[in-house]
Amino acid sequence: MAKPYLIIGGGAAAVQAAKAIRDRDDEAEIIILGEENHLPYNRIKLTKGLFTDLHSEKVLIKKEKWYLANRITVITSACAVSLRPELRQIETEDGRTWEYRKLLLCMGARNRALPVPGAELRGVHTIRDMKDADALKSSLASGSRVAVVGGGVQGLETAWALYEAGYTVTVVEAAPRLMGRQLDRHSSELLRSHLERSGVAVRLQAGVTSIEGIGSAQGITLDDGSRISCDHVVYSIGIQPNTTLVKDTAIQVRTGIVVNDRLETSIPGIYAAGDVAELDGHVEGLWGGALEHGRTAGNNMAAEDSEVYSKAVPVTLFNAFGVSLFSIGTVDEGQCDLTLSGEVNGVYTAIYVKGNTIVGAVSWDSAAASLIYKEAIERKIGLEGISPDGTDIVTVMNEVKSRLRGTAPGA
Ligand SMILES: Cc1cc2nc3c(=O)[nH]c(=O)nc-3n(C[C@H](O)[C@H](O)[C@H](O)COP(=O)(O)OP(=O)(O)OC[C@H]3O[C@@H](n4cnc5c(N)ncnc54)[C@H](O)[C@@H]3O)c2cc1C
Repeated sequence: MAKPYLIIGGGAAAVQAAKAIRDRDDEAEIIILGEENHLPYNRIKLTKGLFTDLHSEKVLIKKEKWYLANRITVITSACAVSLRPELRQIETEDGRTWEYRKLLLCMGARNRALPVPGAELRGVHTIRDMKDADALKSSLASGSRVAVVGGGVQGLETAWALYEAGYTVTVVEAAPRLMGRQLDRHSSELLRSHLERSGVAVRLQAGVTSIEGIGSAQGITLDDGSRISCDHVVYSIGIQPNTTLVKDTAIQVRTGIVVNDRLETSIPGIYAAGDVAELDGHVEGLWGGALEHGRTAGNNMAAEDSEVYSKAVPVTLFNAFGVSLFSIGTVDEGQCDLTLSGEVNGVYTAIYVKGNTIVGAVSWDSAAASLIYKEAIERKIGLEGISPDGTDIVTVMNEVKSRLRGTAPGA
């Protein structure tokens, strides 16, 4: 009997890959081995919906009946501990051996540890999986003071959830601004004042040097010597791909498992996708990227022809502290020729131009409003004849909209 397609890690990339394989191969056996004790779930909800019922079926990527209908076997609480490529075998912690015809590595990432004395104290948390979220929620007490370390999207969403649930929150960020990877300087500053007006304290350019407490956290010390009293610390300072499984193999690893643009590793027949994978020197670490990685890898595993992964324009939607905003594409002034900002639809908006096309946008507008910017960036709508330098942003965007309509399929 033909060996199964084996997928390690039960997350977004794994589900998408299993679906792609099944779409191309109706007969094959498909097995997902996941170390968590749950069917694959929407990890984003751990912060966006921290105080909702995270164990509800609604959080699952696919319900159990979908796996049954598609004959995809998900084995939970199955941690892969050893890979023997020469035998095409995986071993799980319980001593079982799993053979495969093709293997997909989707072990995701863990949160980067906070490298300071006191990080091992009770009351110090990070949120990567369901257990982490449960542990944080069950340890909070009425009136708890929480220091959230990391002013990126995940940190701020956590801060918002805690603030809404009635806890006293301080956000501590080492960089000079909040959401520095997604926002321009002005938006970061506006966001900081929103947080502060809501009653959340913000400390910028503040590196944590230690966490103090006897048995459990009682405060953190910052690099300027000041101290913040708190009962809990929740940190969110980046990710580290889970590559331990391949460490004794010939599979190439840098930060993540190195893959080519077909998502294949340095060993033919073994693929990697999602947060564990490094493509062109870059670990994406985003939900949309994990889905698309998974789909592409699954297609390539099951098909004779090959599909090249094409990175989607990254989109961040932020809804917290009474603020809706989005950030799309490249919003790094250093990588662009020109930035144009002003009010569009009555809200602050900035667009980033490079080589006469819009490559990025930040706007304090809703998700629905983001679509036009996303489309303009994806379709590389040119700004020839507009001369954006010296033209106001509303005029530029009106022209972009009309060019989009003019180039719409069928137009
Ligand atoms: C709290 C939180 C909020 C986020 N918010 C956003 C957001 O707003 N927008 C966005 O784009 N992205 C967000 N992300 C990132 C996004 O969730 C990830 O990019 C995405 O989940 C990656 O999917 P994946 O399948 O690669 O890995 P994961 O979802 O991490 O799944 C990997 C799975 O593999 C398991 N595993 C690891 N090692 C083994 C092993 N040896 N054997 C078996 N199983 C193993 C892990 O336990 C895990 O269940 C967020 C992440 C977190 C944690």
